[in-house]
Amino acid sequence: MSAAKRPEDALLAELEAIYQEVDAKFAGWTCPASTECCRFGLTGVEPYVTSIEYLAVLKAIQKRGGPLRDKRKALALEGTGVRDERTCALLDRSGRCSIYEARPIGCRTFFCARATEAMPVPHTEVIEMVRRVQELAARHTPGGELSHRLGKMMGV
Ligand code: SF4
Repeated sequence: MSAAKRPEDALLAELEAIYQEVDAKFAGWTCPASTECCRFGLTGVEPYVTSIEYLAVLKAIQKRGGPLRDKRKALALEGTGVRDERTCALLDRSGRCSIYEARPIGCRTFFCARATEAMPVPHTEVIEMVRRVQELAARHTPGGELSHRLGKMMGV
């Protein structure tokens, strides 16, 4: 079977279409880019990712040439007083997500408390988009693997 015909490729294409819808809904809206939401020990929350989102992340890491080397990973923020920021292994030193185009839906929908105060998309719409991703994951993983903590998947 050619790579283009693998069932997971079709699911990834569906995931990409959902991501595009999500991005369109949040178009023109942004946050202060503090990178705090990518430091799970700082916020106490982190995105949960489904199996199909994780596959998209793995493919993006592979496409980029492998995991970030330590010298390219984000440094700790100064003055937080937090001992272990649990920084996502995909955040680079410039404060950017190194797999931005493939970031999970949780990262696209601004899950941090600061952002949700000014959320431009109704919560019900976000939940509906998450539900669609979960349906995809259920088709990807028999029995429906719905979510894991991103930090755990990234080893932080
Ligand atoms: S995947 Fe990217 S956007 Fe999401 S927490 Fe990690 S670095 Fe931040």
